[in-house]
Amino acid sequence: MTKFGSWLVGAIVAVVLPSDGRAASPGTAAALPALKLAKRERILVLSPHPDDAALGAGGLIQRVISGGGVVRVVQLTGGDGFSRGVMAIRPGVRPTAEEYRWYGSIREQEDLRAMRRLGVRRAQVTLLGFPDDGLCGLTSTYRTARVFESPYTKRASPPDSEQLVRNTMYRGADLIRELTQIIEEFRPTLIVLPHPGDQHPDHCATHLLVHEALAGAPESGTGTPRVLHYLVHFPEWPAADGSVLPSRVLERGWVWTSLRLTSREQAGKQAALDFFKSQALVMPEFLNAFVRSSELFIEGEPALPIPCWCSGENITSVPRTVH
Ligand SMILES: [Zn+2]
Repeated sequence: MTKFGSWLVGAIVAVVLPSDGRAASPGTAAALPALKLAKRERILVLSPHPDDAALGAGGLIQRVISGGGVVRVVQLTGGDGFSRGVMAIRPGVRPTAEEYRWYGSIREQEDLRAMRRLGVRRAQVTLLGFPDDGLCGLTSTYRTARVFESPYTKRASPPDSEQLVRNTMYRGADLIRELTQIIEEFRPTLIVLPHPGDQHPDHCATHLLVHEALAGAPESGTGTPRVLHYLVHFPEWPAADGSVLPSRVLERGWVWTSLRLTSREQAGKQAALDFFKSQALVMPEFLNAFVRSSELFIEGEPALPIPCWCSGENITSVPRTVH
């Protein structure tokens, strides 16, 4: 092929035509390739805190259910370590361990209502009760021998009602064991989880923990599930509807795909997010910014490891010895 020929091909590829035939502006969500979904997907959505599944994948969840698929949502923590959130409900009072536990149960109830609104039945939501603001410690210091105690709730284990495996404690190996069991039982075709570049330590730690569980789950006969990542905490994120995406997310070589939402799906996502009243007290604009005309995902793993900072330590580089 001549030099001119390869330039011409590149120029043709750079112009993306959406389904209505109009050219999409480069760098916008409309220019990204559309997310491909099979019929009757089985999607497993991993959510560090009670609102993350709805924020990152509230539209995708509705789409899969309406397509005859099955959705399982796993809430790793109850979001029970959010001091600013507790004090927004009870101003002027220094929260006690009891109040942090009470706050976590409120957030879990909000999540169950939100999921119901998206079409996910209670039986398809698993609450694991691991510590908010503690997941990154479970990937390093508290992996196997030492048990983490939440400085907020003073718990060292999930509540009895949320233990999938009896005698589970706040250790990384215990959480990975429960996640492995869920993956084995549910046999997902698609796993949806936080991207390793998410700047909240609980989010990038969730990525690491889920991948360890995936590595340990035996072959199920349904093949290796596809992996989709969502981003919640990142500079200039979420990008405003129709705007050019932040250069930082495009320059990193992440493979983005876009799920264009119908107006009904957008309304469903908004209605689900409206159940998170405790969070709307603290960050209403942030929550509502996730109701956009499309949901964006990063498919597959990044080419290079991305640091996940936990109390000054990059836990991505900690040796993994659980399995
Ligand atoms: Zn979160």
